[in-house]
Amino acid sequence: MELAFSCAKPLIPIAESDLGFPVRRIYCVGRNYAEHAREMGSSGREAPFFFCKPADAVVPVATGSIGSVAYPPATQDLQHEVELVVALGQGGRDIAVADAMDCVFGHAVGLDMTRRDLQKAAKEKGQPWEVGKAFDQSAPIGPIVPVTATGALAAGAITLDVNGETRQQGDLSDMIWGVPEIISHLSHLFELAPGDLIYTGTPAGVGPVVRGDHLLGRIAGLGELNVRIV
Ligand code: MN
Repeated sequence: MELAFSCAKPLIPIAESDLGFPVRRIYCVGRNYAEHAREMGSSGREAPFFFCKPADAVVPVATGSIGSVAYPPATQDLQHEVELVVALGQGGRDIAVADAMDCVFGHAVGLDMTRRDLQKAAKEKGQPWEVGKAFDQSAPIGPIVPVTATGALAAGAITLDVNGETRQQGDLSDMIWGVPEIISHLSHLFELAPGDLIYTGTPAGVGPVVRGDHLLGRIAGLGELNVRIV
């Protein structure tokens, strides 16, 4: 048998640059907008919780391009979750909230694609979420815009259109846990490192997509993420 494998990390385009951002890990925050938490059946300000996707779940989409996401197997209910993604340029352990923004290299528009039927079944059985969340091509992401160009993104519109119709609409200021708090919380659980991506949760309005659908995610200051389900 001939071994054929690559040690290369997935690269995300960096806006206005020829360089790529090499992905180490993908962390995701659950239920981080109150209205979405309600539509998922919870209430109040619970401590943030996290799950992971493999680094090679990313589908990097350059400015002006439309990424292709294959409709995954074993589901009848693939859903969109538009999210602010934070890309870390520095890491560490036990990072104070006040120091957390020093770790941020940039931000991007991302989609936490979800096999909702499998996630729901796992929740009901108290099983892990991987089959619902961590499948191939489950993490489309647009170009990373360096924080030097935008500053911290604590407020601004976040929307998702499907075939020209707005499905998700929120504001980053509606996040239950803000970016510095998320980084600090995570750093008490894991040693963070350059190359880590954090999907910070989705506003209300999640719903199903089918083959042929065009998804357009937008966050003020970060431009667009265009994806087609194929
Ligand atoms: Mn999500």
